[in-house]
Amino acid sequence: MPASRLRPMRLRWAWGGDGSGEDYPMAFPDSVKDAAFKRSGGRCECGRTSHPKHPRGRCPTAISTQSVDYHHVRSRKAGGPDTLANCEALCRKCHKLTKSYGR
Ligand SMILES: [Zn+2]
Ligand SMILES: [Zn+2]
Repeated sequence: MPASRLRPMRLRWAWGGDGSGEDYPMAFPDSVKDAAFKRSGGRCECGRTSHPKHPRGRCPTAISTQSVDYHHVRSRKAGGPDTLANCEALCRKCHKLTKSYGR
């Protein structure tokens, strides 16, 4: 009696390519970035009270077009669109504290 054929297990993730460390690109169009920056009035738009820097409200950090990070409120990985409504103009420190930083 021959042994039944073994099927090799295949592990493949639905995204992220081959896991070689390729960055998932942030892709807000310039028009959205411009609008988000204008909306921010030059100040970080973060209002997360969990951030130690501004526990009572909006972050006081000034941002410039050089230092701003555009954050996907709903991450692209979770299907968030590249629209103004899904875009937050954040300072780098706040951006790094968001749960979906880098995604
Ligand atoms: Zn901030
Ligand atoms: Zn913050």
